[in-house]
Amino acid sequence: MTRPEISSERLWARLMALGEDGALPGGGVNRQALSAEEILAWRRVIAWGRAAGLVASTDPAGNLFLTLEGTLSYLTPVVAGSHIDSQPTGGLFDGAFGTLAALEAVTAIVESGLRPERSIIVVGWMNEEGSRFAPGMMGSELFAGLRPLEEVMAVRDADGISVGEALKSVHDAFPDIAHRPLGFDIHSYIEPHIEQADVLETEGAVIGVVSGIQGKKTYDITVKGREAHAGTEPMERRQDAVQAFARMATRMHAAMAGDDVVKFTIGRVTVEPNAPSVVSAKVTFRIDLRHPANAALDAFGTQLEEIAAGEAEPCSVEIRRLVDAPSNGFEEGLKAQIRASADRHGFPRLDLLSAAGHDARQMAPLTRSAMIFIPCRGGVSHHPDEWAEPAHVAAGAAVLLDLLLEEAGVSCNQGDA
Ligand SMILES: [Zn+2]
Repeated sequence: MTRPEISSERLWARLMALGEDGALPGGGVNRQALSAEEILAWRRVIAWGRAAGLVASTDPAGNLFLTLEGTLSYLTPVVAGSHIDSQPTGGLFDGAFGTLAALEAVTAIVESGLRPERSIIVVGWMNEEGSRFAPGMMGSELFAGLRPLEEVMAVRDADGISVGEALKSVHDAFPDIAHRPLGFDIHSYIEPHIEQADVLETEGAVIGVVSGIQGKKTYDITVKGREAHAGTEPMERRQDAVQAFARMATRMHAAMAGDDVVKFTIGRVTVEPNAPSVVSAKVTFRIDLRHPANAALDAFGTQLEEIAAGEAEPCSVEIRRLVDAPSNGFEEGLKAQIRASADRHGFPRLDLLSAAGHDARQMAPLTRSAMIFIPCRGGVSHHPDEWAEPAHVAAGAAVLLDLLLEEAGVSCNQGDA
């Protein structure tokens, strides 16, 4: 019996078709989590899955699963995929590539007439992007038991709609799909994704063997001063929140200067009352800190907290820790399989670290996990111009297929005798 092969034309056509759900006039997509556009995308993906004989299901976290039943039902399944939600000005590949590559690989197995021993589940995780409902990676975090369900369901978007309400409208749109309990044991997890940086492109590689995801901490810091008249309040009496914030920001940047790997960003600053002739009463700012080495990440985090506390006077400061995700590494055996597959196909490959976060971060502590990266043009992502070459999309799916054959126990010699 012949070895299954992916159809690069079908995979590409599906990526382009999925891009119609939430298509932006000038290109790209706006397909935010649990939106009407995502319902359209679910409809499309479920129809494609069913056409290949896969069974659709969902869970209390709003994750979408498409299962190819294995022959040995007592074995734990292999899970592969990513997410199909996007940023408000997203591209056609972030997330969609991973889920559709998994669907393509499984479809190829079905079409070959072979059956895996283990079930293979294609996944689309709920709200990876976190732009409508913050923070992101809700579906995979709930699956991994990292956050209480009630807390996540209560998060509201800018229009006051809660995750729970939006999820109900998605589930109501699909009355005929099965509901499974939250979380299940997984044999291995593989997530294909565009790189979202330009290392592969620069190095001329087609397949990225992702060694791990760099750790990340985020903080919400509130500096409280006292509102006063800009013309009359003496300088020495002021409790100016902007002044205190400026000192903190300067010292924080200086503290990071010695390390060429750390990524430190103050990406959002809110000033109150934000009036031209009023001494500021309050500044709220968000810190995004990333580092691949956990010891350094922790040390920088502590330093930032110390600076915030030390520079607040005469204002007061409140430091709220939001995300605290250590850096993690992916499984050696799976990485070796990715390298072997790339070599077998003749795809130039490179081991690299993921600078961005992915749902695989949540899977890594639960099970053997890996990520397969493909290049994206100029490293551009979270933008309508995001682009991956059809040949690279096909290469990523072909490598994933090799891993699924191995992991799910598909013998390509079945029926030869
Ligand atoms: Zn993504």
